[in-house]
Amino acid sequence: MGIFDQVNCPNEECENKKAGEEGKYCPKCGSEYQKFGFRDGTSLLTAKENYKKRVEKIGDQSLIEEMGIDKAEEMVEEAENEAKIIEEKIKRENERKKRDEVLKKGSKEFLFTPYMDDESISDEIFKDMQNLANQEAGTKWMRIGTLLSFNSTEQMIGAGFKAIIDQNKLLIRQNELILRELKRINRKDED
Ligand SMILES: [Zn+2]
Repeated sequence: MGIFDQVNCPNEECENKKAGEEGKYCPKCGSEYQKFGFRDGTSLLTAKENYKKRVEKIGDQSLIEEMGIDKAEEMVEEAENEAKIIEEKIKRENERKKRDEVLKKGSKEFLFTPYMDDESISDEIFKDMQNLANQEAGTKWMRIGTLLSFNSTEQMIGAGFKAIIDQNKLLIRQNELILRELKRINRKDED
């Protein structure tokens, strides 16, 4: 035996890490003190530390006594996972409710919401088309001929804007045609 020998309570599940005397007993758990070499002594203290951490995490001594630490640990982990899932569900449900409230209020940010009837969407479309017409009338970019009075970069940007707006007009008209066609099909189905 070497000079680093130590005498300890050998019970890994006992948190007593103080050095004891050979032939005497641990006051905490009643195990007989044993002599350990440096290496074994160190791993004994690590094992005691690990056990203590596991017990602290479970936090319920009677549970450990009742079903053993492995089972108790498993149960706590399962309960934790369960709680996380429920927490996640509640969070998602709250987010959905919040979204729903905003939609019900009919915020201006949304082009349409599930709570808007067809008529109010139609009204909004007309308002948008009116805005677009006013904007075009008031913007130099859009007046034919005036593009020539800008420099080449400005002309490019202006031409780009005009193309985008023309595309949008195309889409709006196409959508209207699709809508009318759908209405016709629905009417035929009803007949
Ligand atoms: Zn002990």
